[in-house]
Amino acid sequence: MKDKPNILIITFDCLRPDHLSALGYRGLFTPTFDRLIDEGVIFTNAYCQAPNTWISHASLFTGCNPYRHGVRTPLRKIAPNVRTMAEVFQEAGYTTFGLPAMSLLSREAGFARGFDEYCLDGLQSREGILSHRYYRSASDTLAITKHWLRGISRPFFGWIHYFGTHRVEDSLLDLPPKYRQQYSEYAQYYDGKVAFTDEQFLEHLVGELKTLGILDETILVLWSDHGENLHGVEHNPQYAHNWTLKEDVMRVLLVIRAPWLLPPGEKHSNVVQSIDIFPTLLELVGVRSFQSQVEGKYLTTPFPQSNPIVYMENLCQGFVGVRQDRFKLIISKPDSQGKENSQISGVFGERLIWRLRLVKNAIHELLPARWKWQGRREPVSEVTDGLAPWWSARGEPEEILLRLIKHGTCTLYDLYNDPLEHHNIASQKPTLVKDLKQIIHDLAVHGANVEQAYEASEEAAVEAHLRALGYF
Ligand SMILES: [Zn+2]
Repeated sequence: MKDKPNILIITFDCLRPDHLSALGYRGLFTPTFDRLIDEGVIFTNAYCQAPNTWISHASLFTGCNPYRHGVRTPLRKIAPNVRTMAEVFQEAGYTTFGLPAMSLLSREAGFARGFDEYCLDGLQSREGILSHRYYRSASDTLAITKHWLRGISRPFFGWIHYFGTHRVEDSLLDLPPKYRQQYSEYAQYYDGKVAFTDEQFLEHLVGELKTLGILDETILVLWSDHGENLHGVEHNPQYAHNWTLKEDVMRVLLVIRAPWLLPPGEKHSNVVQSIDIFPTLLELVGVRSFQSQVEGKYLTTPFPQSNPIVYMENLCQGFVGVRQDRFKLIISKPDSQGKENSQISGVFGERLIWRLRLVKNAIHELLPARWKWQGRREPVSEVTDGLAPWWSARGEPEEILLRLIKHGTCTLYDLYNDPLEHHNIASQKPTLVKDLKQIIHDLAVHGANVEQAYEASEEAAVEAHLRALGYF
């Protein structure tokens, strides 16, 4: 095993690749990112599967679309019959460690599977219930990573989640005053965080890899889980990335630096996806015994020439979409009309159902056995049907998906002629819309795995977790 390279994946949460100077951005200079891009291979048309941290990470870890790995809302787990990247590398003899920066990437939801060490320190209270401080600061992330790298046996598979590019409070972000003073509006403020990340995090981390003499023995993957809607946030903070499937939030950074394996400086503009990372790493290190559920493709030589179909969803907020060749179809819940004006948002809808479930369970416990409901999982669905139609029929993702396909508002973009997605051409191409809807249906309905919801006994703990994060 000693000849195997190490693997280090770094998630830069919310990082938009088009805000790096290496890719032509003029708003700031990112010398460390730029140098690593020069030394590695960059995929300039990389997509995530969902504009949402936990769904997107589940796709990274499993190489699957959400309908297959099962994480589609905060209340779902990675399906037990789906293998994770850490599990596969662990079995292949790698030492594995994971450092989440956000507590929803929890053990309970299956994100820790396969990691020898999975550090949630600082994200949990003494009672074991996750505290309000649900993200990790940049300095803590760097310090813990350095500590691990100095003591870990090789080869290792590591995943670091960096939250400094996410929208959080300055005081906990370690953002030095010079960046805060230089930028005022949110977009400039965002650039300040990217500059800070380049200078104060990535440069130090790469310096550590050099000092340890392992930079050129380590496959380094720079990835973002989704982008950021820099204008939406000025209307409402939660619109930063969770409320659309547009390019701003679906396009992600993907760089693989392994100069002894991949020719430095190559730029690939074919469409690729986050789910491709898992099979690509297996191929690069020669672990080929794994037959699995993976839907992604190898991004190694020969490089795939045809563009794949890209499936995307955020059922939490009532969106599903697909890109095929130059066209992208987004289906949104009818009351939103592609905007952020729903009376009952996904999170609220799920929260409502959750509350009703808890009430139902409490009543259920008090009932004599002969009065208990038999054969019906959700006796409250009649109530929730009326209040939150997109979370009706027990709030199951499959049901939401079918409703979207049948009743949702369709928006079609020609990304070649309209890359900024200003012009909805759905009414001009009804046959194409119908075909793309059928693709979504075939993928997400026929390809769906069994959903894994929390057991009733776990619900209280998960509810406390979500409340701590501000979802209630
Ligand atoms: Zn994220």
